[in-house]
Amino acid sequence: MTPDKAAPAAEGRSGKFRRDVRRELDRFRRLLRERGHRMTPQRLAIYRVLLSERTHPRAEDLYRLVRHEYPMISQATVYKTLELFKDLGLIVELGFGDDVNRYDVNPRPHLHMICVRCRRIFDLEDESLNEALARAADPPGFRVHYARYEYYGLCAECEARGGRPAAEAAGRG
Ligand SMILES: [Zn+2]
Ligand SMILES: [Zn+2]
Repeated sequence: MTPDKAAPAAEGRSGKFRRDVRRELDRFRRLLRERGHRMTPQRLAIYRVLLSERTHPRAEDLYRLVRHEYPMISQATVYKTLELFKDLGLIVELGFGDDVNRYDVNPRPHLHMICVRCRRIFDLEDESLNEALARAADPPGFRVHYARYEYYGLCAECEARGGRPAAEAAGRG
C-alpha cells in the first residue's frame, strides 16, 4: 500500500471518509476473526467495494467491480460471501419489490433517497437526523428488528437529464 499523502485541499469530507473506511476495515477483520472465519483477499476485496460503492450495489454490480481486481473470482463466490456478510450483520439486504436485492454496509439507521429513474439508492448524510433516527429506533416497550426510511424521487444526474436515467446508471442495468 502506498503512503497516503493527500494535499490539504483533499482534507475534510474525503479525509473523514478514508478514516471511516479504515475503521470499518478494522471492524471487519476483527469480526471475521472473532466468528472464526478466514480473511481471504476475495472477502476483503468485496467488502472494500461495498464500502466505496455508495449507491447500494446489486450482487451483479459487485461481481463486475470485484472482477477488475480478481478476474478469476466466480459469481458463486460473490453470492456466498454476501450471504456470510449478511449472517455476520455486516450488510443489510434491501429489497424494493423489483426482485433485485441491494446491499448496504451502513449499519446505523439512516434515510435512503431512491431514484425512481436510475434506481440508485443514496444515503442522506445528516448527522442530526441519524441521531434522531437512532433514538426513534429504540422506543420504550418495543424491540425494533429493522427499519426503513425512504425518500423517492430523482437523483441530481437524472434530474439534469430531464428525468431520463443517468448514463452511468443505465449502463448498470
Ligand atoms: Zn437517478
Ligand atoms: Zn444506506
